[in-house]
Amino acid sequence: MSQRPIVRFAPSPTGRIHIGNARTALLNWLFARREGGRFILRFDDTDRERSREEYARSIEEDLAWLGIKPDRIERQSQRLDRYAAAAEKLKSMGRLYPAYETADELDRRRKRQQARGLPPIYDRAALKLTAEERAALEAQGRKPHWRFKLKPEIVRWDDLVRGPSHIDCASLSDPILAREDGTYLYTLPSVVDDFEMGVTHVIRGEDHVTNTAVQIQIFDALAGGAPRFGHHNLLTDASGEGLSKRTGSLSIASLRESGVEALAAAALAVLTGSADSVRPVASLDDLARSFDLKHLSHGAARFDEAELRALSARTLHILPYAAVAERLKGLGVEGGEAFWLAVRGNLSTLAETAEWRRVVDGAIAPIVEEPAFLAEAAALLPEEPWDQSTWGRWTGKLKEATGRKGRALYHPLRLALTGREAGPELANLLPLIGRAKALDRLRARAA
Ligand code: GLU
Repeated sequence: MSQRPIVRFAPSPTGRIHIGNARTALLNWLFARREGGRFILRFDDTDRERSREEYARSIEEDLAWLGIKPDRIERQSQRLDRYAAAAEKLKSMGRLYPAYETADELDRRRKRQQARGLPPIYDRAALKLTAEERAALEAQGRKPHWRFKLKPEIVRWDDLVRGPSHIDCASLSDPILAREDGTYLYTLPSVVDDFEMGVTHVIRGEDHVTNTAVQIQIFDALAGGAPRFGHHNLLTDASGEGLSKRTGSLSIASLRESGVEALAAAALAVLTGSADSVRPVASLDDLARSFDLKHLSHGAARFDEAELRALSARTLHILPYAAVAERLKGLGVEGGEAFWLAVRGNLSTLAETAEWRRVVDGAIAPIVEEPAFLAEAAALLPEEPWDQSTWGRWTGKLKEATGRKGRALYHPLRLALTGREAGPELANLLPLIGRAKALDRLRARAA
């Protein structure tokens, strides 16, 4: 790619984002990241009634949790003069015209068209109004909304995901760009911003395919050319239900609170519904290297929370200490890299480290099933210093002395040393537990 891409994620701050929104954000982020490009977070907040600053903040937080740090943050509510200028330009070109129909009138007209077997396309009656008719309507107190005059042509683009695509604009109604009250629908501001912010690639859900045809015509009118577009398939929940900001299903906030790893949520959000197999990743860069927009499948894809939990565990199992050190500190879990490497393979959530920390240097209740065997084990416990080979040396001697092997040899030791049926490799845990604690536990009496 000769030019470094500039992409944007453009949520409306009308609710918390869900995993489907995160998918859009991540696909943009990874795309930019891989090519050394830039990522703009742009709040579509022209709907003043439904947009809230607290949602904007929570979206930033949710993205940060996923590992996305925007290079630039913009708010459409602060750029209204730019949209007004663009609207004026379109008017002067004869591409934006006033229309006075009420919602009821339009509805009745659509029903009549349908009854006659005609497609429910706006008939452009407003274009036929004379200046006097318009003046008369305005004298009645009617205010116009503004429609973009589409060219009745086939718009073609080479979709970054779906390949060559086209839409026949002759089959679309002229879209409304501005409402009676002077506010804008998302269509025009989005084009103005994409153009003025130098956006090179628009990657968004396939629910926007029709908008793309309309917006390409607006780009052509205002800027003489459009960016590249890519439309990814949408996610549903495990039952096939669409996701919605309103219901809060699969919100990033709820996933985070449930203790799943951000990297697992990111990997599954990107790899679900693609030809690439779902796998744990140790960083977003790792994901960026392997992902390809062309690998996304074309049908809706289910996002399965159970699969996420499993992937989250597999992610923890491969994370290096540096990736979790800060968070372990936040959890009050000490122990450094040796502790992390000893326990990570057994975790389902990071919070479980606290439990293994207690096993290593806290008070536990040893399970003592065979005191005589444990006494013998205690007597053979090597002197310190200990390392990972200590366990092998010790159990080797114990095997010779008692003739035990396999589970009969190891399991009573695990029960006494950890108070648990299962857990991390004892070769790794034993040096962390240390000789004094190990002796205490081996000599503990059964309750
Ligand atoms: N606010 C729009 C959405 O969230 C933005 C669409 C776009 O990316 O252009 O669907």
